[in-house]
Amino acid sequence: MSERDYYEVLSVDRGAGEGEIKSAYRKLAMKFHPDRNPGDSSAEDKFKEATEAYEILKDPEKRQRYDQFGHAAFNGQGGGGGFQSGFGGFDINEALRSFMRDFGGGGGGFQDMFGGGRARSNRGEDLRIRMSLTLEEIAMGVTKQLKVNRLGACQSCSGSGAAAGTSAETCRQCGGAGQVRTVTRTFIGSIQQVRPCPECQGSGKTITSPCPECHGEGRAKISTDTEVEIPAGVSEGNYLTVEGKGNFGPHSGTPGDLQVVIEEKEHDHFVRQGDDIIYQKMISFATAALGTKLEVPTLRGSETIKIPAGVQSGKAIKLRGEGIPHLRSYGRGDQIVLITVWTPTKLSSADKKLLEQLEQSESFQPPKHNKSFLQKLRESLGV
Ligand SMILES: [Zn+2]
Ligand SMILES: [Zn+2]
Repeated sequence: MSERDYYEVLSVDRGAGEGEIKSAYRKLAMKFHPDRNPGDSSAEDKFKEATEAYEILKDPEKRQRYDQFGHAAFNGQGGGGGFQSGFGGFDINEALRSFMRDFGGGGGGFQDMFGGGRARSNRGEDLRIRMSLTLEEIAMGVTKQLKVNRLGACQSCSGSGAAAGTSAETCRQCGGAGQVRTVTRTFIGSIQQVRPCPECQGSGKTITSPCPECHGEGRAKISTDTEVEIPAGVSEGNYLTVEGKGNFGPHSGTPGDLQVVIEEKEHDHFVRQGDDIIYQKMISFATAALGTKLEVPTLRGSETIKIPAGVQSGKAIKLRGEGIPHLRSYGRGDQIVLITVWTPTKLSSADKKLLEQLEQSESFQPPKHNKSFLQKLRESLGV
C-alpha cells in the first residue's frame, strides 16, 4: 500500500470536494493508464497509487477515517472494500476494475475486461465434502478412503463429448485458444478485452455430432474412491485440498479440486481445549482422604496416576504430552485430569451410622477459611 499522502498523490488540498477529487484522479489515471504506457512498470505503479488514493478519498466514511488516522486506518485490513489482494496494496487488475467502475461508462459488461490471460473456462468445479473424525483419529493422524460422487469423464466418448466415430474439431472462431479478444474504443483509447469464446464456451473445440450419453459435455456421474491422509492435530473447520479430485472439466478440460473439511466428533469422556484434553475423574471421599493409585484412559491407551492422600475436589493433575499433537510444530498438548470428589446421594442405615460417627471426628472438620482458594479466586477475578 502506498505510504504517500493520498491528497499529495492526487495533488488536491485537504478540503477538496468530491468533484475535484474525481477530476484530479481522472487526469492521473488517463496519463498513467497501462494501455497508454505498455510495459512501463513505474506508470503502472502510479496508476495503482492514484487509484488507491481515489478509492479512499471518494468514500466519505473512508476519507474521514483516513483524515483521522492516516494510513494506519487501513493497515492490516487491506484498506477495506476490494483491496483484499494484499501484498503491496491491490493488484493492477483490481485497480483497472475500480477505474472502469467509475469511468468505464459501461455496466457490468466491463467487469471482466482486464482478465487477460485467464485460464480457459472448461475447468471442472471444486467439490467440498465433510469428514467426521474421532479425537483418537485426530490424535494419531489417519488415512481414510472416501467415496466421492462426482462428474467424471464420460465413458462412451472418453470425455471428448463427440459421438463414437467422430471427433471434436478445433473451434473456428477462436482457433482452439478458447478465448477471443475484442477491442473496445473508449475515451482513453482502445482497450483489449479477453473473454471465453462464445462459440465453444472456452473449450477451444466444437462438436458437430455430440455423444448421446453426455449430450456433448464429456462428463457423466461417477463414484470414485479417494484416499485422504489426515495429519495428526487437525481441528474442526480445517480443510485440505486434494488436487484434481473434483469434477472433471467439460470437453476434456482440467479437473477441479476436492476439499475435505474436518469435523470433530464429540467424545464420550474427553473434551478438547486447544491441543489439551480434559478428563474428569470422580473419586469417593474415602479415596480422597486415603489416597490411591488408579488408571485413567488416555487417547492412546491408559496411564496410572497417583491420587495423593488428602486431595481436594477440583485438583488438576497434568499428564504431559498425552494431548493432541500440535499441527504446525513439534510436541503435543497435555491431558488434564480434573479430580472431583463424589458425594454419595443414597445411604444405607449402616453407612449413615458410620458417617455420623466420622462427623464427630475432629479431622473431619473443614478449616474455616481456605487461603489458597481465596488467592486463586482473587487472581482469576483480577482483584
Ligand atoms: Zn472457440
Ligand atoms: Zn460422452
